[in-house]
Amino acid sequence: MHAVGTGLTLRTPEGMPYLFDPGALCLELLPTGGPGAFARWEVLHRPEDLAAWAARSRLTPPPAPDGLTDADVTAARALRNALLRLAQARAHGRPAPPADLETVNAAAAAPPLAPALAGDGTRRWAAPVTGEALLSTVARDAVDLLSGPHADRIRECGAGDCFLLFVDTSRPGRRRWCSMRNCGNRHKVRAHRARHDEE
Ligand SMILES: [Zn+2]
Repeated sequence: MHAVGTGLTLRTPEGMPYLFDPGALCLELLPTGGPGAFARWEVLHRPEDLAAWAARSRLTPPPAPDGLTDADVTAARALRNALLRLAQARAHGRPAPPADLETVNAAAAAPPLAPALAGDGTRRWAAPVTGEALLSTVARDAVDLLSGPHADRIRECGAGDCFLLFVDTSRPGRRRWCSMRNCGNRHKVRAHRARHDEE
């Protein structure tokens, strides 16, 4: 599930880029926006936006979906919002909202992307790479994650003003931050200042 060098490039409030690896494909969809207050971060507006997300995801090789439609974008946002609430519920020990389980299960019921071997020995995705197959692959990843051994390692970033969700697949299981470069570093700076204020 985890590979070195995977992750999404996000930006700090100051505009500094940093790598955020949420640890699972399904969680990579979450920073694209969301319901309620998260709507201001929405980046999935047009079919090209969903294609761009697929290209930046941890799927290998990056899939290039054919013929994405506005309906695929609507479905992607619905799946994303359901995954966000399910991951939040899991991270905070709350029951899973039944309507969100239905959304994920319906997406997972469609055929997923099919891996294929090319003549030169490389891996590719069998055509057609549809939006439905892409979202099924994401939903199936969520089923695996939420029913698997790391489900209890789904956490929200430890910074009070950061709502990024990740799964800690490290052996010690002590990951607290979305990224050391962003929230981890801010925390270190604050802890350092607090120590100096006490002196
Ligand atoms: Zn954070």
